[in-house]
Order: sequence, then structure tokens, then C-alpha cells
Amino acid sequence: MQIALIMAHPDNADIYCGGSIGAWRSMGAAVTILIATDGARGGNHDPKKLAQLRAKEAIAAAKVLNANLIQLNFPDGELPQSEEFASRLTSEVVRLKPNLLVAHAPNDYHADHRAVSAGALIAASFRAPVLWVDPMMGMSFYPTTTSISHLFRI
Ligand SMILES: [Zn+2]
Repeated sequence: MQIALIMAHPDNADIYCGGSIGAWRSMGAAVTILIATDGARGGNHDPKKLAQLRAKEAIAAAKVLNANLIQLNFPDGELPQSEEFASRLTSEVVRLKPNLLVAHAPNDYHADHRAVSAGALIAASFRAPVLWVDPMMGMSFYPTTTSISHLFRI
């Protein structure tokens, strides 16, 4: 069982679904976190230093979660304008062959997150089902009861 998360920024996987990642790992799934941007615009610090700090934090978080980490380093805040992004995601999904993709929801508040959502759908195509994470503060999020337990050999 291979689960791949596609998240826009370095801390998104931990904030949105760190608990789920831990649960999936405990069930024996391999988890890969793909971080789309460098996170350079996520604060009021020197962008280059902030990107370096957030990369280190993402590596530490992935280690705690026992997940693989791939940092794609697209410019933070510019995913919606990237023509290369969906193609790169597709290449990663073809290479990883996940049984399940997890990504930001199409109605998320952040433009980078929505770009990830659109890119994940293109990359998934017929290769893997896509599970959306809850947008911040649960706004306009209606959880389904769809079980993914059939994806695990329990
Ligand atoms: Zn984010």
C-alpha cells in the first residue's frame, strides 16, 4: 500500500493530516509526502532563509512520521501560474504508483492549495483515487463516509 500526499507548503502535510499519516503508517502503508513549493513566502522573514528553515522542519517532521519526503521547490505563491507543475506531478505519480493520493480540496482558501488540487486530479487521472483534506477551519467541508480500509490488506 502506497499513499502519496501532495501538499503546497512545507508544513501542510503535518498540519492537515499528520494524525492520518501516523495511522496509515501504523497500518503498514508506505507514505510519501510531496511538497510543491519552497515555502519562501510563508512569513515575514528573509525568503531564502525561511525556505531553508522550512525545508529542515519538513525533513524533521517526515522523520517523526516515518514518511518519505520529496520537495519539488516550485516558487511559493506562484503555483497557479506554473505551466510545468501538473506535468511534474504526473511524472511523480507515474513513478510512485500510489494506491491513494491525498491533496488539498478544490475549495481551499489558498490559491497554491487550489492549484495543488487541480494538479493532483490531472496527475491522478485513472491511476489512483484522490482524497481531499479538510480546508482550514472546516469551511465548506462535508466529510464522506467512504472507507479506504479496502485498500489495506487487514
Ligand atoms: Zn499551505
